[in-house]
Amino acid sequence: MAKRIYGIIGHPVRHSLSPAMQNAAFNELGIDAEYSVFDVAPDELGSFLGDIRRKNISGINVTIPHKIDALLYVDKHGTLDANARRLGAINTILSDGASLQGYNTDGPGFYRSLVEELKFEPEGKNIFVLGAGGAATAIVMYLGRAPGKIFVSDVDAGKAESLKAHYVKYYEKGNLEIVAPGDIGTAIAASQLFINATPAGMKETDPLPIDISFLHPGLYVYDLVYNRPVTGLVKEAQRKRLHAATGLGMLLHQGAIAFEIWTGKKAPVAMMKRALKEALKCQ
Ligand code: NAP
Repeated sequence: MAKRIYGIIGHPVRHSLSPAMQNAAFNELGIDAEYSVFDVAPDELGSFLGDIRRKNISGINVTIPHKIDALLYVDKHGTLDANARRLGAINTILSDGASLQGYNTDGPGFYRSLVEELKFEPEGKNIFVLGAGGAATAIVMYLGRAPGKIFVSDVDAGKAESLKAHYVKYYEKGNLEIVAPGDIGTAIAASQLFINATPAGMKETDPLPIDISFLHPGLYVYDLVYNRPVTGLVKEAQRKRLHAATGLGMLLHQGAIAFEIWTGKKAPVAMMKRALKEALKCQ
């Protein structure tokens, strides 16, 4: 059988960590496959996706700026799973030879990481999400109605409003509250989990996304930033003896779930994690 072809499409997409993680997984399970990077400009997206079967590509990850346009394409030419449809964006495509299927593994990947690595069960808990961009939306739309309350705050109030408008379309009786910047401390005090879904922390010199006095005993802290082994926020949380994690686990598990969709096999998560950490060191 010919070598299977997988990859990630984005623009630009040069520094993706996914090839290291996915190729390590194929290697570990003895699957004859190769995962590559495809830099696809926005005006080339339709022709690239239209050619997937002719090029013998079995599966694709989709990243910025294509997550929404790829969903529109697959909706027209294939099928979408319920989570992807609800979110309105895909990050994974399966091409089984006959049709294209679109998924979004960001929310499920976050959930797996939260439960397995941070040992935090979101059901019935109050959760504070700082930031209302793509990552925050994937998490909020996946958690849905499960948390007791979801607090969302963004420096751009319009983005928080858009996230809420999208959320209530699907979760009419949901419990999402927008928090003004001046009320962040009070809302975190009423929360059991704080999620940083902003880029604050990607650079060592970045200020912390919140005042550290908001980190109260018992609070769990999940920083989506993953490009550094430890972020300032995670460091401060650990100094206060709180359970805290960077976003490496979400990156790992969204990739592991994509791998499972493509291959039907359980992902070798420990090996993928090692490969991710190695690749991060080389960046
Ligand atoms: P995004 O679409 O740019 O959204 C971030 C939002 O946060 C923007 O609306 C931004 O407003 C706002 N913001 C920035 N600083 C803020 C602050 N201090 N307080 C409140 N709001 C603030 O970015 P994204 O794609 O959602 O990604 C967010 C972070 O998650 C990034 O660090 C990214 O690397 C990470 N991420 C991790 C994973 C993973 O697998 N671990 C997956 C996806 C994303 P402005 O635009 O006005 O600044």
